[in-house]
Amino acid sequence: MTPAPYIGRFAPSPTGPLHLGSLVAALASWLDARAMGGRWLVRMEDLDRPRCDQASADTILRQLEAYGLVWDGGVLCQSQRDDAYAAALDAMRGQGAVFACSCTRSQLAQAPRNAEGETVYPGTCRLHVLPRVGVHSWRVRAQEVSVHFVDRIHGALQQDLAAEVGDFVVRRADGLFAYQLAVVVDDAFQGVTYIVRGADLLWNTPRQIYLQRLLGLPTPVYAHVPLVTNAAGQKLSKQTLAPALPERGRRAVLAQALAALGHPPPADLVGAGADELLAWAAAHWRVEAVPLHPVIANPAP
Ligand code: GLU
Repeated sequence: MTPAPYIGRFAPSPTGPLHLGSLVAALASWLDARAMGGRWLVRMEDLDRPRCDQASADTILRQLEAYGLVWDGGVLCQSQRDDAYAAALDAMRGQGAVFACSCTRSQLAQAPRNAEGETVYPGTCRLHVLPRVGVHSWRVRAQEVSVHFVDRIHGALQQDLAAEVGDFVVRRADGLFAYQLAVVVDDAFQGVTYIVRGADLLWNTPRQIYLQRLLGLPTPVYAHVPLVTNAAGQKLSKQTLAPALPERGRRAVLAQALAALGHPPPADLVGAGADELLAWAAAHWRVEAVPLHPVIANPAP
């Protein structure tokens, strides 16, 4: 059997400009794809209409280009893909794999939390099927299964879905499809075989593998790269006011991102431009050299 071709992707949510943390994730997936001679796609995860905007999507694409991270083909936008997500939800309804849930956030406030701080759904609407009235979400039944996978950086991992996650939402009460469903449908639609993304999504992976199995979709190979934090140990994000990638001084920012990925450029590349740095990194990329732990961003010069 010939191995599946390498297709990687970067899938930002356009809620603001890219910052150093998102650059690290984009750079890692770009380098991995280029080092493996694969294709690299960009997908706009603009599912959450109220939080996403076109201006941010345009900015992200401009920033990627400015940093030399050129993608292959067109850009798929999740806001255009509701029919595909609806078809996937229908398929799961047909299998009895999902149930309607009318629990509100306040009703779930006392539910237990997992190590990631997420609510573990206590099964209320699964156990007491109520007539479906008014707004409701759709949750997938988390079977008592242990989902195993091997991350290329974190090694062999497993999660007991029912105990550690519980039944999870695939369509929200406001009608929006959930990230977990959309990402699985789109990765399969685009033929993605390798996913390289931030470690904040590591413990989402078993949910996604579970959905892939329910929907009869292939499971890509995963690698989760370290997050970048500020000096207070908070993940760089819009909420923690991470600065946007600068337009000037790209070389120094790329060098910092490469160091965060365990590939600090050698001394003889000190005067090299951004393109030369990228070429060096693609030629020397080894996913095994990527560290496990979060890295702290250098303060802005
Ligand atoms: N859209 C997600 C984010 O920006 C990433 C999804 C993924 O890579 O699977 O955090």
